[in-house]
Amino acid sequence: MPADLHIHTYFSDGSESPEAVVELAKKAGLTAIAITDHDVVSGIERAAARGRELGLEVIPGIEFTTEAYDSEIHILGYFIDIKEPRLLEKISRMQKGREERVFKICEKLKELGAPVDPEKVFTLAGHRAAGRPHVARALIEAGHVRNFREAFNKYLAFHSPAYVSHYKLMPTEAVELIGQAKGLAVYGHPAVSACDGIVPELASAGLAGIEVYYSGHDESQTKHYEELARKHGLLMTGGSDFHGSNGGREINLGDIMLPDDLLARLKDEHLRRNRS
Ligand code: AMP
Ligand code: ZN
Ligand code: FE
Ligand code: FE
Repeated sequence: MPADLHIHTYFSDGSESPEAVVELAKKAGLTAIAITDHDVVSGIERAAARGRELGLEVIPGIEFTTEAYDSEIHILGYFIDIKEPRLLEKISRMQKGREERVFKICEKLKELGAPVDPEKVFTLAGHRAAGRPHVARALIEAGHVRNFREAFNKYLAFHSPAYVSHYKLMPTEAVELIGQAKGLAVYGHPAVSACDGIVPELASAGLAGIEVYYSGHDESQTKHYEELARKHGLLMTGGSDFHGSNGGREINLGDIMLPDDLLARLKDEHLRRNRS
């Protein structure tokens, strides 16, 4: 019963609907998936409904964008209660921050001689809480860059000139918020952040696992994070970070197939922590 615990829909910056994601996952031979949209939980109920029809387990999840030590740290949450009031309040603040940030990015792009219309970005996203990949698409469509890579390198990447921050949680805050929503927090794609030093404080805040198996991790990085997880007594999870066929990267469902026993351990830990 292989699982993929890191998937985006068009409620953040994926290109597929929740239903389409579930159908693709079923076709790929997965038996469980987690929907982990950036800073939002809007796709989960629809995915779960389609999952029930097709006999595919849908785990409610989220991927929080956080920042610390001059690095972007992504914290995944699993088995969260998507109606938890404090979670919803933070999400709504983050969504507003994302919208405001698009206007700021567009102002910077104008100054840099690569103007894009913020409304075009929102249209491409299909919602107002857009992300940088939507800006990247607008830049490509306007003819300012040839591809995603150029859009990020030249303008949008963390230290590039049109980068703008938005309201974010601290990594430990995200871990605590996930715990408050009865979920399990996992450090997402740690090799992308390259900030291993943060693991002890995340662990103290209640981190449950590390996303060891990830489409962007090479063999040595996977091995390194297996060891780091063991060292800190953390569970090992895995996911593809699928963003859809039009998501700007070549990742498919089925690229990561997390074995049963690792998902079972995650579920045990979830039960253990939420016994009343
Ligand atoms: P945001 O949440 O708006 O900050 O955008 C984050 C999204 O942009 C994530 O899905 C990242 O994978 C993607 N992203 C970040 N850096 C790059 C990059 N250098 N090339 C392509 N995509 C990127
Ligand atoms: Zn994304
Ligand atoms: Fe991420
Ligand atoms: Fe992701």
